[in-house]
Amino acid sequence: MSNRVISMWTGSTPNRVIVIVLTFAATVKLSHSLYRRLRRSRTRSGTMSFAAPPKNDSESLRRSRILSSKLYLDVPSSKVPLIYSSTYDIAFLGIEKLHPFDSAKWGRICRFLSMDDVVDKNCIVEPKEATKEDLLVVHTEAYLNSLKKSADVAMIIEVPPVALFPNCLVQQKVLSPFRNQVGGTILAAKLAKERGWAINVGGGFHHCCGGKGGGFCAYADISLCIHFAFVRLNISRVMIIDLDAHQGNGHETDFANDSRVYILDMYNPGIYPFDYEARRFIDQRVEVVSGTTTAEYLRKLDAALEVAAHNFAPELIVYNAGTDILDGDPLGRLKISPDGITHRDEKVFRFAFERNIPIVMLTSGGYMKSSARVIADSIANLSNKSLIDMGRKTSSI
Ligand SMILES: [Zn+2]
Repeated sequence: MSNRVISMWTGSTPNRVIVIVLTFAATVKLSHSLYRRLRRSRTRSGTMSFAAPPKNDSESLRRSRILSSKLYLDVPSSKVPLIYSSTYDIAFLGIEKLHPFDSAKWGRICRFLSMDDVVDKNCIVEPKEATKEDLLVVHTEAYLNSLKKSADVAMIIEVPPVALFPNCLVQQKVLSPFRNQVGGTILAAKLAKERGWAINVGGGFHHCCGGKGGGFCAYADISLCIHFAFVRLNISRVMIIDLDAHQGNGHETDFANDSRVYILDMYNPGIYPFDYEARRFIDQRVEVVSGTTTAEYLRKLDAALEVAAHNFAPELIVYNAGTDILDGDPLGRLKISPDGITHRDEKVFRFAFERNIPIVMLTSGGYMKSSARVIADSIANLSNKSLIDMGRKTSSI
């Protein structure tokens, strides 16, 4: 205590002391009364603060949106949990050719699978398009409204000329295909729970979070899929295994500090998105620098999966299987061979299969024309190794 304070007290007259004591007593009484009123109010509202947004209300709104969604279709057992619709593919007056992305990749994967007799195309599951109410489960109204400006969409998908087109055309030709893929990712979790696995031939928009899009990702399908699984599938622990070449900053932002979601992200730290804030929310970060080759990549993956299995026991795995790690991809800058992709996917499916954990695979990034062939070959390998059942068992005769 300082000398100045001591002299204030010792120099006080008795009257001043009485006034100070009475003021103190009145303050204490008032504080108690305010505290009791605050407590009563908290008990009634169930919230911890007058000013805080009613979290319970937004949670119950999210829940009711999920419960009233039509995306969880009943799928007959004659179908296989491979999800695709021709509405996935983007054709936009030739503009799509300005992007290095093969915007018809999804349809080409299915054509290869059908031609190679890996799957009967009549057995492929067709999802529904996610509605605005579905998207609001994760997205803010403000973000969805921003997509009504073609210039904003052009920035997100990185095709500047799209800014010049009327928004109705952008909605129909670009955003609707994405919303169909979102419907596929959400449905994939339901099918994985029922059948053990599901592959959405699209989706994996891992740069988009609830309030922001970017890097060709307009909707946060991974976050949406997981929130639907929490409510509709009674799942409470999800592991995201993100093996696209880029960091998955969208789901990392959405599930920041959410202990129900464990994120293993293996990415090249020298390329987009350089999101250092979101990196803090990765549970297991494995950085693979430009030029990493197949053997080193697969060695790192083996070690990472071992650590993940030790750290977390998921009830669902969401596997973001981008193929932009392929040697020659101008954006991923890694040197993984097509065989390396097949081995990578096999390792992840084996990881899930051996532990009896339902797995959802999304195709995510992959920017070369050769990607579709590589993905189809990898899916065929999963079928040949009996890690997935495409309903095409070869006869023993
Ligand atoms: Zn990527």
